[in-house]
Amino acid sequence: MRKPVIAGNWKMYKTPKESLSFLERFLPLIKDHTRDEIVLFPTMSSLGYVLDATQNTNVRAGAQTMHWLNEGPYTGQTSPTMLASIHCTHVLLGHSERRIYAHETDDMVNWKLKAALGHALTPVVCVGETLDKRQSGLTDAVLRWQVACALNGIEPAGSEPLIIAYEPVWAIGTGSTATPAQVQDAHRMIRDEVAARLGPDRANETRILYGGSVKPENASTLMAQPDIDGALVGGASLDAETFAQIVKYTSQP
Ligand code: PEP
Repeated sequence: MRKPVIAGNWKMYKTPKESLSFLERFLPLIKDHTRDEIVLFPTMSSLGYVLDATQNTNVRAGAQTMHWLNEGPYTGQTSPTMLASIHCTHVLLGHSERRIYAHETDDMVNWKLKAALGHALTPVVCVGETLDKRQSGLTDAVLRWQVACALNGIEPAGSEPLIIAYEPVWAIGTGSTATPAQVQDAHRMIRDEVAARLGPDRANETRILYGGSVKPENASTLMAQPDIDGALVGGASLDAETFAQIVKYTSQP
């Protein structure tokens, strides 16, 4: 059984004060929730505060990106060693906004994934096709390529948790969610590609999340698909009550 993951990507929103006031409202709403792993990805300036405030709770926190090296002359970057030293547990890698605006390449995502696994940080590797690629019938090719590149050189025998987030670029922040059938197809194919690279056992254990305009109204239907193991939520994770409703999706739509 794969434990579902409901993760909130706060992007470049919320000061430390706003992050803490979110937690004051959110933590009581989900305090007894054990069915799903709950993870928040605040900005780097709020991460330490969120980690402190979620100690001894059922909420984990991670960084929205990191460098792959441990230290060096890379202004503006944060390393895996630094994240591990503040007891950060998760890290988002290759989010499409990083690929588009920070020019992250498939190779960089691969280097970062290796670094995350080497530092016991649970990686959430984001993959997804643009609208143009979907309309050209290239969704499968893009997803297989991104997964294959990310996993290049990863030890098949490893047992570290691995999370992949399928985030069609055309569904992020647009309000147009992929249909449950489209997501199920994509997730099935991603799992096949993980199996081809890392073997069937690892593929079976890998949690594959969907991201792209997830809301309380569509969470249950999406989560009912056999290969959807959770959600990566952007806009709807910014409000404590709304995100708590998503965390508490009903298992039957
Ligand atoms: C995201 O940023 O990862 C995301 C899925 O955003 P939204 O839920 O707003 O589409």
